[in-house]
Amino acid sequence: MQDEQFMKAAIQLAYDNVISGHGGPFGAVVVKDGQIIGRGCNEVTAACDPTAHAEVQAIREACRHLNSFQLEDCVIYTSCEPCPMCIGAIYWARPKAVFYACTQNEAAAIGFDDRFIYEQIALPMEQRSVVMKQMYPPESPQPFEAWAASAQKVEY
Ligand SMILES: [Zn+2]
Repeated sequence: MQDEQFMKAAIQLAYDNVISGHGGPFGAVVVKDGQIIGRGCNEVTAACDPTAHAEVQAIREACRHLNSFQLEDCVIYTSCEPCPMCIGAIYWARPKAVFYACTQNEAAAIGFDDRFIYEQIALPMEQRSVVMKQMYPPESPQPFEAWAASAQKVEY
């Protein structure tokens, strides 16, 4: 029952985002110990930020609330199945579970199709639509070596 209430909160954020004209029909909340500690709605167009998906916004708010870069023992409720970027963000944040309402097929049916990203990731680098080339100019600094030798690093 509590799960359903948190999901309704995420769906309400998505709905309100559309009605207010603020952005796309997506909302998410992050819950820890039965409390909402982060809320997000899609703000891609309002913020001119292609990464401002509901899940990312909710993760950012929850992490600020916890003053942590991890969502330990947290659950994310999102109004739609996360896209590949948000799945990546979710794995980096390490919550214990994700619940979603609409499916990626339902999102595709109203014009939000992220299937091409899954297809792109599966392709060899040289066949992707965005050019990605490896290069390491000689005599560049060595950030990886600096990290490995650093005494002040915070591992994550
Ligand atoms: Zn996303």
